[in-house]
Amino acid sequence: MGRFLRSVGIDLGTANTLILVQGKNIVLREPSVVAVDKKDGEIVAVGNAAKDMLGRTPDSIIAIRPLRDGVIADFNMTQGMLKHFVNRSISHSWFLKPIMIVCIPYGATPVEKRAVEEVILQAGAGSAYLIQEPLAAAIGTGISVNEPSGNMVVDIGGGTSEVAVISLGTIVVSKSIRIAGDKFDESIIRYVRRHHDLIIGERTAEYAKMELGSIHNKEENKSLEIRGRHASNGLPKTALINAREVNEALKEPIEHIIDAIKVTLEKSPPELAADIIQKGMSITGGGSLLSGLTERIMESIGIKAELAENPLDCVINGIEKIIEDMQSFKRVLIPLKK
Ligand code: ADP
Ligand code: MG
Repeated sequence: MGRFLRSVGIDLGTANTLILVQGKNIVLREPSVVAVDKKDGEIVAVGNAAKDMLGRTPDSIIAIRPLRDGVIADFNMTQGMLKHFVNRSISHSWFLKPIMIVCIPYGATPVEKRAVEEVILQAGAGSAYLIQEPLAAAIGTGISVNEPSGNMVVDIGGGTSEVAVISLGTIVVSKSIRIAGDKFDESIIRYVRRHHDLIIGERTAEYAKMELGSIHNKEENKSLEIRGRHASNGLPKTALINAREVNEALKEPIEHIIDAIKVTLEKSPPELAADIIQKGMSITGGGSLLSGLTERIMESIGIKAELAENPLDCVINGIEKIIEDMQSFKRVLIPLKK
């Protein structure tokens, strides 16, 4: 089987990277994190192993998320990380270099886009196509993107939230903001410092978000013990936080996401807006797993919103559908020049 030309799909996300090999489904799912030795710049760990090191490394090693706020904030590290992931995912016995289909955030600048292209070619692609993330996510949620009808998809990831209105395989209106899951964590860190004099790390904040983050009033009394450092004397300290506090901390970033949806709707041509009012919008991306978020969006916007079935997998599932039927999705693919 190794000698046949296979396609490989890559969701290079700011928080998680997923790789799919045609005929084998998802073969890799790892956090987009790299740990590097500061002395020689050598990569010591990638993915899960590196994520465990975030905030826990000795002075000589740093664990970073190379795609974090920007699209590719650190080019060399992104390249190193992706090479590791690709090597782990595809067999060296493959005779032909694979066709790779990689998604890029819609908000990517031309420079960032070029950086992704170089990374893919370096990682061993024979030929490659880029696809805009909201399109892949929409296809993954089961939307028929090629029809002349307006569809709205909201992808709340780690680093970016992307809102897009799609018709005829094209993004007609969109907005990409750099406020998503990471900003939720940062808001929790700030809140806990201000109200509990406690400094916590990103991992702890993310854990609190997942455990307590819920916009349902009925769960407000649920609480969790978190650990960190006392803000003034620096000693280890624990505190009890509850769901109400987490909700309070998340209010502001959530408002920004809702505003981005409103702005996108306001900019939509009337016929497409009419389609969206009728069909509603699809909510996807890991950030959308925050319990109650879809309901909050629906209340604020006044249009039906539906949470995708597997929010973390929509993009890679969309790429899989494209790989299975490249001809129908020609319009959404951007061929990459070598
Ligand atoms: P990206 O596409 O940018 O890599 P993902 O779609 O993989 O992002 O989503 C990652 C984000 O989802 C992270 O901020 C993570 O904390 C968040 N997330 C994952 N699971 C949950 C959950 N159960 N509740 C709230 N947030 C979650
Ligand atoms: Mg994503």
